[in-house]
Amino acid sequence: LYVDHPLGDGQTVPLDRDQAHYLFGVMRLSEGAPVALFNGRDGEWLAEVSDAGKRGGVLSCVRQTRPLQMPPDLWLLFAPIKKARTDFIVEKAAEMGAARIMPVQTEFTNSERIRQDRLQAHAVEAAEQCGGTYVPEVTDLQRLDRVLADWPEGRQLMFCDEAEVGRSSVLPDGLSKGAWAILIGPEGGFSEAERARLRALPFAHVVSLGPRILRADTAAVAAMTVWQQALGD
Ligand code: SAM
Repeated sequence: LYVDHPLGDGQTVPLDRDQAHYLFGVMRLSEGAPVALFNGRDGEWLAEVSDAGKRGGVLSCVRQTRPLQMPPDLWLLFAPIKKARTDFIVEKAAEMGAARIMPVQTEFTNSERIRQDRLQAHAVEAAEQCGGTYVPEVTDLQRLDRVLADWPEGRQLMFCDEAEVGRSSVLPDGLSKGAWAILIGPEGGFSEAERARLRALPFAHVVSLGPRILRADTAAVAAMTVWQQALGD
């Protein structure tokens, strides 16, 4: 169970109404029952139910069962698309261990707003689902040109450019592991001006994802897989 609360020796964790309903109403746990907890920061903890109420309750941490497992230092930058497909991208990025998920507005991005809180909740659910101890941060929508202008020293960018379609999907030779980001464009792809700007960036590496143009959500999963294989830990 994910809780937004510190976990540690002797720590008690208050439960809100929904959590209490899930544990005591749906799962039928009673006092003394074990519950595995994580908060994305302190690893996984075994806790016990010390108070089971209808509208709330309390868990008490017993011991740490797994330390925090940090994902590789990979950011996924993507242009948000239709709601369900954006949800899919966030869910898959969290499952595949992206450290940070960054919706970016490009020239041809249709959505001008996202529900960051909803997307963050999807990332929590995905981490919960795959037994992760880390929850990637989902940032609010930012303009791609601003993100590139503020680019952190030493981070490399895998620029997935549909104009490269047909080239083999192997990454260029000689890339080093470390801090990386992947960039996936919107359904309309990148404009010529964006493409020229991205290609000129000293930290960008242009990548093809194979012989066909993939939908943006498929491209995000394919790119993370290629990166993981070649540059992940
Ligand atoms: N409208 C564009 C076109 O027809 O050329 C296609 C955009 S594609 C649906 C969405 C994004 O997925 C692209 O901007 C790119 O980042 C990525 N993508 C899809 N297929 C790709 C490929 N074969 N190689 C590299 N990137 C690809």
